[in-house]
Amino acid sequence: MIRLGLIGYPVEHSLSPVLHETALRASGMVGQYSLFPVLPGDERMLVELIGRVRSRELSGLNVTIPHKRTAMQFVDELTPTAAAIGAVNTLYCRDDKAIGDNTDAPGFLKDLARFTTVPASAFVLGAGGAARAVVYALRARGCSIVVAARRPEKAAELARQFPGVHAISMTVEALERVNTDLIINATPAGMLPNLDECAWPACLAFPQGAAVYDLVYNPPETQLVRSARAAGLRATTGLGMLVEQAALAFQLWTGFLVDREVLLDAVQQRVR
Ligand code: NAP
Repeated sequence: MIRLGLIGYPVEHSLSPVLHETALRASGMVGQYSLFPVLPGDERMLVELIGRVRSRELSGLNVTIPHKRTAMQFVDELTPTAAAIGAVNTLYCRDDKAIGDNTDAPGFLKDLARFTTVPASAFVLGAGGAARAVVYALRARGCSIVVAARRPEKAAELARQFPGVHAISMTVEALERVNTDLIINATPAGMLPNLDECAWPACLAFPQGAAVYDLVYNPPETQLVRSARAAGLRATTGLGMLVEQAALAFQLWTGFLVDREVLLDAVQQRVR
């Protein structure tokens, strides 16, 4: 019996149960994926759930907002990827130790490869956990990066963490000087139910020839993707990344390599 689950708050609208229950069925394994809503600051519950991974009562857990950074303190070991990013999204047990890993970075690169080649330069909107995973992944491939956040000190903090990354503020004046091959939205702007939000200002033209990758995966076409396509740019949402990071986590928990198309099919029926 494979017992999996998700720590976060809120968790009730998560697509992870669909992905992992589909993966369980596709692999022929018997199991369940449970939701563990853990209130921000409830460290006792985090410690207890990580203990259940260490004792193998749970085969593995995903971690989402707001616990991706806090959970790092309570695991026995971080993988080099999770340590470099400064966030975990996947927990599992190896040699009686609770390990914290991060599959967002490899998941992003895997899906990006389907969309475009790793560009020479990228511009990242947002400075949270997902932005750090994206920056880590692209820096490791030699991409030069500019990052912008609505709180400039957060962008500056991210730039200090990753040498070679340049921080700017998220103002129209600063954004109109951006010249890049790839714009990446790593903010929740445009995510259901905030369908009208867009991290790139409506009044501003996109840099010529840039492609747009929006990490937001619900709805199937975000405002940012719609505007970029209308301007003649190639653009995609992050649904493929969501599938990749889940498939990589499932492989860490079970050793099973799940067919991405099967997961994509299942999850496409749930986004609207
Ligand atoms: P996070 O740690 O909370 O960081 C969010 C960042 O976006 C922060 O810099 C935040 O600024 C900024 N922000 C929030 N709302 C904004 C708005 N309306 N306009 C401009 N900036 C805004 O969240 P995260 O974990 O990085 O996740 C970010 C997004 O990526 C979420 O929508 C998440 O679902 C998505 N994501 C997708 C995948 C995938 O597989 N496709 C994987 C991971 C994450 P403040 O600090 O000022 O609040």
